[in-house]
Formats: sequence, C-alpha cells, structure tokens
Amino acid sequence: MNLLAGRHYQCMALSPISDSIAEDFRCPVIEAIRLRGFHVAADGLEIHLAREFGFCYGVDRAIHRAYRARRVHPGKRIFLTAEIIHNPSVNRKLHDMGIGIMTLASGNSGGQSAIGPDDVVILPAFGAAASDVQNLRATGCAIVDTTCGSVMRVWKRVERYAREGFTAVIHGVYSHEETVATTSCVAAIAGGKYIVVRDKAEARLVCDYIAGRAGAGTIRDRFKRAVSAGFDAGRDLERIGLANQTTMLSNESVEIAGMLRRAMVFRHGEAAMAERFRSFETICAATQDRQDAVRALGGLGMDLIIIVGGFNSSNTTHLVEIASQFAPSYHIGDPSDIISRGEIRQKHWRRRQPGIVRAWLPAPPLRVGVSGGASTPNRAVGQAIERVAALCGVNLRERLGIGP
Ligand code: SF4
Repeated sequence: MNLLAGRHYQCMALSPISDSIAEDFRCPVIEAIRLRGFHVAADGLEIHLAREFGFCYGVDRAIHRAYRARRVHPGKRIFLTAEIIHNPSVNRKLHDMGIGIMTLASGNSGGQSAIGPDDVVILPAFGAAASDVQNLRATGCAIVDTTCGSVMRVWKRVERYAREGFTAVIHGVYSHEETVATTSCVAAIAGGKYIVVRDKAEARLVCDYIAGRAGAGTIRDRFKRAVSAGFDAGRDLERIGLANQTTMLSNESVEIAGMLRRAMVFRHGEAAMAERFRSFETICAATQDRQDAVRALGGLGMDLIIIVGGFNSSNTTHLVEIASQFAPSYHIGDPSDIISRGEIRQKHWRRRQPGIVRAWLPAPPLRVGVSGGASTPNRAVGQAIERVAALCGVNLRERLGIGP
C-alpha cells in the first residue's frame, strides 16, 4: 500500500475542536440571513436561502473526527483513503493540517513509504471498500472510521439481501466511493450479487430484461463494470432487493423501485412478490431535507438559483437537478467561480465538467435563491452570496449590520 500525499501540518491551538471547526467554516453572513427569516432584500436584490443546506450530521461528525485525529496524534502521519467529503475547501483545509490522501492501488508508490503501525488512516464519511479496510488493518496502523451511520444502514440492508439470496439492485453511481463500499459489502458475502443502476434509463433496461423484452446481452453490455463478478442476468435477477446510494434523487429512487416491482409482477405474478422482491428506501434524512428545501425555494419563484458544492458531490448535483426545474440554476464549486456579472464558471447537472456561462446575472430587480450541498461549509455559501450582492452593487455586510 502506497502513499501520494504531503506530510506537513501545522499545530492547532488547544481550543475545543468544535470551536476550531466553527472558526474555519462558520459564516456571520449566513447566520444573519437565517435570523432574518432566511432572506434579505436590498436595492432591488432579494436573496433567499434554502431552509436546509450545508453540513449534514455525517459530514459534521467526519470533519470533527479528522480534526480530533490531528490533535490526538500531533507527530504522526495521517492519511485519508479518499477525500473525506466532496468539497474543495474542506479538503484543502485538511491538506493544510497535514492530512493527505493515500492511494490504495498497489504498485504506485508516489515516492512515499508504505503505511505502517505508526501511521493513522481516516476512513471518509462514505466509508471504504471492505477489502481495503482489511488490508489497512493488516498494516497495524490506527484507523479512524468516520463512516456515516446512514451509509452503514445501507450496508446492513444489502448484506441482509445477500444472506437471504436476493441480488442487491442499487440505485447509485457504481464508481462513487459510497457505492464502491456498499458493493464491497455484498461481494464479501459468499454468493452475494449486485447490479448498480444509475438512473431510470438504466433501470428500464433491467426491467425490460426481467419482463422478457430484452436479452441478457443488453445487461452484459451496459452494466459491464456495474455488476458483481460472474453476474448472470438469467440467474441473478430472479430475486432482487432494492437499495440506494444515500445521496440520490429520492423521487427517482422511489420510481425505480416501482418500475422494478412492476416488471417482477409482470414476470412472476403478484403472489410471488414476497419471495422475489424486497425494497427499502435508503436515502438519508439529510439528503431528503435538502432536496425538499430546494423544491420549496424554487416554489417561491426565483429568477435564478445558485447551488454551492463540490463538482464531484452527488448530493449537490441532485440539488441542481431539482433547482433547474424551477429557474436557471448554476452549480459552482467555490465562490471564486462567480467571476463577474458577465461570467460564471458552473457545471450543468448532466455534464461531467464545468464550463463558463455568459450573461448569467440580470440587473435587479432580481430574486436569487441559494443553497449548498451536504458537504458545503456555510462560509462558501456566504461568500457566494456576498459576491452576487457586490456584483449588484450591494454591500451586504453593511446591510446586515455585521462587521467586515
Ligand atoms: S449525506 Fe447523508 S449519508 Fe452522506 S454523510 Fe451526510 S448524513 Fe451521512
């Protein structure tokens, strides 16, 4: 096992850890807008904040544990198995504290020495693959597990499916760290099988196969990398159990469960469902709350909506997808992506890469909705709001009566 990250860190002052985190990520602008009922108006500009956004309980806990690890092990090398969460400013902060990211791929030394008993390894909020954790344990390093309880709930569900002879059909992105960890739980159980469907289009292919409208070749070709080893559609789609990555679009997960159930009924009859079909929604409460809050925000009638969060953040991308149903919506990774009135660097929820959109900010009067993903610090959301206000000629801090 080899490493790819820096080793230097700065000592943190011995204040309580929650104070250090608040110091790094809190934002007086956000606090002031919340106190005013989640909106502020000035000179024709209205800013409306979603009622739920930013750090969820799982992210909060993961960051807290990472800070604690740094403090408890001041002289040790500390590594993450992957980004602790998908947010650039949080990851930059941990890097500055000397917490680097290792690679679990063998044969890639990156010029650094292997993990050993003197090292500390942090498992991120999404968890890590069971085999990787096993390998880490064998090195004797100290492991700090920040896996969110809501993610572990999905693991328990799919493990149960595997033990009871059901193939786990997981609504998720097969390469996302959380789903990699979830599928590894299935693979760790003898005979465990899974297939990962990304969206309704992929679920429809599975339904078509189950209902006899498509051949096994369709499944083989489309899901090459998204199925368990030796997956045989003819054998492995006879009994299925549904679960989902915690950060998927909740409505879509419910629809996919309905589609698959109908296909199973078509093939086997309603009476067979108890023996052949299981479903359990595993979207976490924090994801659901943030999605509902963006729907409510959109329902207020915004001229545009800005969503702040890592471009690789699944939950943030789904917030943008929802916001886009109501108004032109812009997913920015960082406040600096708001370049000028004429340019914003943003990512469309269907695309992989961000790009520049021009003439995005109309002149006031203007209603702007703002939210952030479950891994986005308040500070990033607050700075984005301040940039929009400044571009509209509004000094927001002055208007809110807070200092610079
Ligand atoms: S989004 Fe949900 S599952 Fe993911 S860390 Fe937050 S609370 Fe946990």
